Amino acid sequence: MDINENINIIIQSAIGRGCRVLEHEPMSKYTTFKIGGEARAIIFVGNLKTMSDLVRVCTDENVPYFILGNGSNLLVSDDGYNGIMFKLEGDFKKISLLEENTVFCGAGVSLAKLCKFALDHNLSGLEFAWGIPGSVGGAAYMNAGAYGGEMKDVLMSASYIDPQGSQGRFTVDEMNLSYRHSVFTDNGYIISGVILVLKEDSHDSIRERMDDFMDRRRSKQPLEFPSAGSVFKRPEGYFAGGLIEQCNLKGEQIGGAQVSIKHAGFIVNKGGATCDDVCKLVKHIQDTVLEKTGVELECEINRL
Ligand SMILES: Cc1cc2nc3c(=O)[nH]c(=O)nc-3n(C[C@H](O)[C@H](O)[C@H](O)COP(=O)(O)OP(=O)(O)OC[C@H]3O[C@@H](n4cnc5c(N)ncnc54)[C@H](O)[C@@H]3O)c2cc1C
Repeated sequence: MDINENINIIIQSAIGRGCRVLEHEPMSKYTTFKIGGEARAIIFVGNLKTMSDLVRVCTDENVPYFILGNGSNLLVSDDGYNGIMFKLEGDFKKISLLEENTVFCGAGVSLAKLCKFALDHNLSGLEFAWGIPGSVGGAAYMNAGAYGGEMKDVLMSASYIDPQGSQGRFTVDEMNLSYRHSVFTDNGYIISGVILVLKEDSHDSIRERMDDFMDRRRSKQPLEFPSAGSVFKRPEGYFAGGLIEQCNLKGEQIGGAQVSIKHAGFIVNKGGATCDDVCKLVKHIQDTVLEKTGVELECEINRL
């Protein structure tokens, strides 16, 4: 059977389970880079049972699938994606306080909403994440971090759905979290929700730290242009942005993709940038930095 027929089976199966389905959607609408060709279908899933069922059907039918968070660390090919994009909503957008300082959060919640929830409950630990434009699932997957904090510091566990549709839970130790890596970057399981342990603190102190981190972002990062954040992982002992600047690459442009003038660690979409433009620019930066400084830069952005 050809792949398109199998994809149609998944679409019908999703519609039959009450999911909203959008076909031939441009991924530029769903990524902060504003880049990417059409996804064959985006399926919006509202609960665990439906997600488990649909993943199992995808596996059985050999249909490729991808979990889309907020698309803030994602570079999608100009040719698009001939598979299923799952977007978590409904139950996956719920947050609740389990105990005084323990929070359950669905993977589809934005980090911004989780940070506000923590602030409203006088809970500290997530201030570093204020301003990271990802979802909680994407942040756990990447072990997102900033200003000395990372998801690893606050996570207690993550529940998942494996490719057979079975549900389970990893403790934080089992999640193997390290710099921009987790067990999920290796196994591709779907994160359905997380439990976080935070610390009580005063509303004012938490707010002050959040404001401070946001001010630092606004002053250093090119938030006025579409991007996917820092392009490269921090090489041991260096800052990627510093090395790129040292190689006089600030402002370097290929097509619509430019090395940000404000922060050399970012590539920004100056208008009409394609995935191909970004990939060529990434390669040019890597080659130049390696040649001039001897340091290898590894791309942090997920490519699809
Ligand atoms: C302006 C800007 C600033 C940024 N600053 C930071 C920063 O300070 N620190 C930092 O770490 N990052 C930063 N980022 C990058 C990005 O926001 C984070 O990596 C974020 O955690 C990605 O989450 P997302 O939901 O957008 O994931 P997406 O980009 O949608 O997806 C990224 C990967 O996560 C996977 N994924 C998403 N959800 C799930 C799930 N539920 N289950 C399994 N896999 C999943 C996807 O399949 C994909 O492989 C920044 C980005 C921008 C644009």
